[in-house]
Amino acid sequence: MSLFFTQVKSQVTTRQAAERYGIQVNHSGMACCPFHADRHPSMKIDGRFYCFGCHVTGDVIDFTARLFDLPLYDAAKKLAADFNIQPLPPGQSTPIPKLPAAVIERKEEQRVLRILIEYERLLEKWKEEFAPSDPKDENWDGRFVHAVHHLPPLSDAIDRLFSSDPDERKAIMDSIRSTDTIAQIETILNERRQEVKNDGREKDRAA
Ligand SMILES: [Zn+2]
Repeated sequence: MSLFFTQVKSQVTTRQAAERYGIQVNHSGMACCPFHADRHPSMKIDGRFYCFGCHVTGDVIDFTARLFDLPLYDAAKKLAADFNIQPLPPGQSTPIPKLPAAVIERKEEQRVLRILIEYERLLEKWKEEFAPSDPKDENWDGRFVHAVHHLPPLSDAIDRLFSSDPDERKAIMDSIRSTDTIAQIETILNERRQEVKNDGREKDRAA
C-alpha cells in the first residue's frame, strides 16, 4: 500500500489535484482555503499544501482525503483514477469525480460572503459621506439612514459566516436563503457600479 501512496504522490502535485477539483490557484500558488471560511487566499498549494489561516497541511493524498471526506487509501485510489496513474490497485473502478455537497455549500457561502462584504463597504462609505453635517438638522440623507439601520445586522451576518462552527454558518445561510436579501443587495451593488461608471464617463467628457 505504501508503494501505491508513493506512486501517486510522485505523479500528482497537490496543486494539480486542487485545480482539477475546481479550486482556483493564483499565479503565486495561493488559493482560498476550502477548509475554512477564507476571505483572501491564505493557502499555499504546490507539491504539498499549507494554510496560513487554519494551519492544515499535508500532501496531495491528505488534501484529497480532506476535500472529499475520504479515508487516505480511498483518496489515493481516487487520484490514481482521476489522473490515470497506472497500475491501479486490483479491482478498482474509476469513479467520476464529483464535488461533494459540502464543497458546493462552501462555495455558496463564499459567494454570499463576497456580496455581503462589498455591501458592507458601500454602507460604511454612505455612513461617512452622507452623515448630516449639523446634528440638529433633521433632514437626513436616505443613504445615511439606510446605512445606520442596516450596518449592525449586516456585520453580524458576516461575522457569523466566518464562524468555524458549521451549524452557525448553516443557520445564517438558511436565514439568508429564506428571503431575497442577496438578490436585493446585488441590485443595489449593480446600480452603484453603473453610477460609478457613468460618473467616470462624465468626468472624461468634462476633461
Ligand atoms: Zn484554511
